[in-house]
Amino acid sequence: MDVQDCEFGQDRKKAAVANTKRVDYPASWRRDMSVYIPLATKYRPQKFSDVVGQDMVVRIITRGLMKNRLGPALLFSGARGIGKTTIARILAKAWRCENRTDADPEPCCQCMSCRNFLQGNQIDVVEIDAASNTGVDDVREIIESSRYAPTFGKFKIFIVDEVHMLSKSAFNALLKTLEEPPAHVKFLFATTETYKIPETVMSRVLKFDLKKVDMELMIQYLSSICNQEEILANADVLTMIARAADGSIRDGLSVLDQAINVAEGNALSSADLKSMLNVSDDNDTMELLELIFSPNIESTIKKYREIITNNVSAVKVINALVDNVHVLTCLKTHVTPLEMIVSDGLFPRLEKLAKAVSLAAVSRIWQMLLKGIHELKFSDRPEIILEMLLIRITYAAELPDLRELVDEIVKKQRRPLAINEKMSHTESAMESLTQEAFKMFPGAKLEQ
Ligand SMILES: [Zn+2]
Repeated sequence: MDVQDCEFGQDRKKAAVANTKRVDYPASWRRDMSVYIPLATKYRPQKFSDVVGQDMVVRIITRGLMKNRLGPALLFSGARGIGKTTIARILAKAWRCENRTDADPEPCCQCMSCRNFLQGNQIDVVEIDAASNTGVDDVREIIESSRYAPTFGKFKIFIVDEVHMLSKSAFNALLKTLEEPPAHVKFLFATTETYKIPETVMSRVLKFDLKKVDMELMIQYLSSICNQEEILANADVLTMIARAADGSIRDGLSVLDQAINVAEGNALSSADLKSMLNVSDDNDTMELLELIFSPNIESTIKKYREIITNNVSAVKVINALVDNVHVLTCLKTHVTPLEMIVSDGLFPRLEKLAKAVSLAAVSRIWQMLLKGIHELKFSDRPEIILEMLLIRITYAAELPDLRELVDEIVKKQRRPLAINEKMSHTESAMESLTQEAFKMFPGAKLEQ
């Protein structure tokens, strides 16, 4: 499917996933079974339409190519493993493709230039890792080389990865070439830390901010790869891999690679994934959440200790709880979650829980978890911090709703006690709470 054939957005997402295909590597590689090709390499996008989850960036670039309106220097920023270098390489290939016309932004993948790309044999496309070539001398080599026309084709292209690692003097040296680059030169920069790039450089490049791939699309993508690799993976397994990928297609494929190695036969099990990733599975987190709202401190802590015994870090437990409480809040408020962060199998349990708990309790626990994430960050003993937090959270889950409490107090103020009538335990607790509140806010009055 050509780029112009499909609408961007949801359809394009599906198209990109459906288009996911193995790269046509040289026949000699395929014949030699001893050559192991990691999934991330095997399925690296070769065309713009293969790129997953970067619709807007791809749209701007492909339209820019068709209208011949892309500048000489482009900067791709965003988290690692989300396709910055991949898009840069496809663009370089498209710029140099011998068969490409303005009507079609895609490289043909057939001409000599495109074939050379596949074999890593492109002398006119220079890839530099700025992390290990930070100095002014390295940049001078680039500048010197940029003076000469490409050996064949229209453009000589420099792809500079981790460009923010260049030294100040290296940036200054590069700046002059960026101001007036030779017509045959293109610069494609990639960075994870845009803020480290000088303003003078930023103002001379066309910027593209790549986003993390969302869970739903990641799961669809991983599922399509499993189909092609004839690997069986259920929804729980795919969700665990997608979560571990944290929006990075490359990380997702690398986790899938590991999972295939660990699996017996061609089926991936959630138990293997759980121990491989040191994460609790969704059922464990769900059970923990149900115990918090039950509310039973002893059982909550017992479950929590069972989870961390399997080498699951406190940070992973609290993040999983935050995801679940987020979906729970959405269910309570009839809001569609921004992205699907829990597996489909948990939905009926979350729906049941949503009916049983109050929005006030869910909000309270959300606040406490967020505060807990911060506390965990600065602690040497995160497991203990989280255990204490879980005790507090479980205790807080049974506290009455503040609105209900105020209503009760107002009701009680209106109703004088009958002769010889004693206050109940709850009423007495409320009375003392009211007194405490009045001490904190002198002059406050209860609305009648
Ligand atoms: Zn070509």
